[in-house]
Amino acid sequence: MRRLTRAPNTAIAQIWADLLCEGGYPATVQRQFLSGVAGELPPDQCLPEIWLLHDEHEAAAKALLAELARVPQRRWTCTACSEQIEGGFEQCWNCGALMPP
Ligand SMILES: [Zn+2]
Repeated sequence: MRRLTRAPNTAIAQIWADLLCEGGYPATVQRQFLSGVAGELPPDQCLPEIWLLHDEHEAAAKALLAELARVPQRRWTCTACSEQIEGGFEQCWNCGALMPP
């Protein structure tokens, strides 16, 4: 077991863990039980953590989460009309062209 990262809340922690499992990196959420006593402990002690079952998955699992975090801030320029596209769109909202690979 190896601690991969800390999530801002249990809902996100669960999503990350599910995605890691789907990606072939078995992961679990730890410390969720502490959220009920938040306020009595330092906040950083209450955040849920993602733990990997297999240490050797660490690098690949981190890359997967980084990919996930990057998507909403993605920005690209449409090659057809030069429009700047931001967010998770894979199609130009101006002319309908698809994002270049
Ligand atoms: Zn366009």
